Amino acid sequence: MMDAPLQVSRILEHGASVHGAAEVVTWTGAGPRRTSYAEVGRQAARLAHALREECGVTGDERVATLMWNNTEHLVAYFAVPSMGAVLHTLNIRLFPDQLTYIANHAEDRVVLVDSTLVPLLARVIGELTTVRHVVVVGGGDPAPLVAAAGDRITVHRWDDLLAGRPERYDWPEVDERDAAALCYTSGTTGNPKGVAYSHRSIYLHSLQICVPEGFGLGPTDRELAIVPMFHAMSWGLPYAAFLCGASLVMPDRFLQAAPIAEMIATERPTLAGAVPTIWNDLLAYLDSHDMDTSSLREVIVGGSACPPALMHAFAERHGIDVIHAWGMTETSPLGSVARPPAGATGDEAWRYRYTQGRVPAGVTARIVGPAGEPLPADGTSVGELEVRGPWVTARYVGEEKPDPAKFRDGWLRTGDVGTLSPDGFITLTDRAKDVIKSGGEWISSVELENALMAHPDVQEACVVGVPDQRWDERPLATVVVREGASVTAEELREFLATSVARWQLPERWAFIDAVPKTSVGKFDKKVVRSRYADGAFDVRELAGP
Ligand code: ADP
Repeated sequence: MMDAPLQVSRILEHGASVHGAAEVVTWTGAGPRRTSYAEVGRQAARLAHALREECGVTGDERVATLMWNNTEHLVAYFAVPSMGAVLHTLNIRLFPDQLTYIANHAEDRVVLVDSTLVPLLARVIGELTTVRHVVVVGGGDPAPLVAAAGDRITVHRWDDLLAGRPERYDWPEVDERDAAALCYTSGTTGNPKGVAYSHRSIYLHSLQICVPEGFGLGPTDRELAIVPMFHAMSWGLPYAAFLCGASLVMPDRFLQAAPIAEMIATERPTLAGAVPTIWNDLLAYLDSHDMDTSSLREVIVGGSACPPALMHAFAERHGIDVIHAWGMTETSPLGSVARPPAGATGDEAWRYRYTQGRVPAGVTARIVGPAGEPLPADGTSVGELEVRGPWVTARYVGEEKPDPAKFRDGWLRTGDVGTLSPDGFITLTDRAKDVIKSGGEWISSVELENALMAHPDVQEACVVGVPDQRWDERPLATVVVREGASVTAEELREFLATSVARWQLPERWAFIDAVPKTSVGKFDKKVVRSRYADGAFDVRELAGP
């Protein structure tokens, strides 16, 4: 067979020609903005010329983005890797010192920034030691940035920089194992760590997104890509869409339930992907507003465990299939998708859908015990999930050798705890660091959350382990009550007792306004634990086990 390298430029050229009529829609707050994939191809060529000729980008230098999900971000997704450089997606929700750390660690040379995020970049630009050029996308005043940047950095405007440049670029042949893109984990413990995706891994991962067993993305689809392009590469959706010709709907900064519902009603996406908190908010909105969501064939939910109650509510009240998926920044991120096997119907099919899903051929999974010993894939042995495969990272950027805390004998240690069934379904009970160790027994914080969120008056529930003199740790339930509803700790505890063993029932309860979220919208358990330690919650304590 011929040895054709699997390159991002191939995905771009294919999408921009064969699927040139597919469209990318960006939400603006004043009506949608529409562009064709053919035009994205032309802009990618212009951007690559500008980066080389004006910003001097050569080799595998890093070009960072500080951007929402929009057309220009998509252009950068293709232009930067296709020219042989490395795209670095900066997470706009990180603390300034983390942003600085990441940009310096990656040695970013250029930053592309949405004009709405100029104030954020202006705050840190003075500390970004390797940056030489900033490109501001969209209108708005770049003056604060120019003032903060100093002489070392040239500030350009996107439109001026791209104007008049050629619509074609002679994309170089690269080694398919070279880095194409860089994404840092959100750093819930310690400094964020960089994961470099290769051209080859992106290509293979994109194929997997498109197969029916993956997300089943195809040319007749319109994908609403809510998951940020700075969070695990928007789950690979931009590349997969160009590969298969699915159109893209990009929400830009309009991530609240009301505009998302309007995007669904008017742009009629067939698929959508986001973390559970987004879907939870949208559900509450759809329950109280009459919106047309009939175009949605499926929505993919991942990033944290999806409460079964959320899946049922969408299916039963809105006719939308919520598909549960698991993955990590380190796995590109597609790891597993919960699609029931042939023949499973009714409750049995639902039981499969509650799991984190089955791995595709490209990902091998195993469960290991405390000393790293492999445990049987019997659906009952509980241990840490480890994975390997061609789109799973082998080590973090800048590390000479794989860190033994995260890698073992060529496997990635996920830090997730659960079981693996003989037919390949992963069921996660918790993250290792969130499991509640009570009197030598383990309590799954996720199981308690799922059970609580099945209560009709509960909007959100986050459970963490807190120190306890007698049992070492006990669960603390923090609950957000649905608007207009009222419920007591005693009532919730009795409700929990119908599905959870009595000794696991939390005695500490706090009613809060909102669960603190991480930079990618997950429950931030670290913050919940520290707020409890600081006495910030009004905790009600019921009798113990
Ligand atoms: P961060 O670790 O900063 O949250 P990632 O997005 O890479 O960044 O998180 C990966 C982790 O998210 C996984 O290791 C797992 O703990 C969690 N996760 C992702 N999908 C699921 C899921 N479907 N069910 C449970 N946990 C999930």
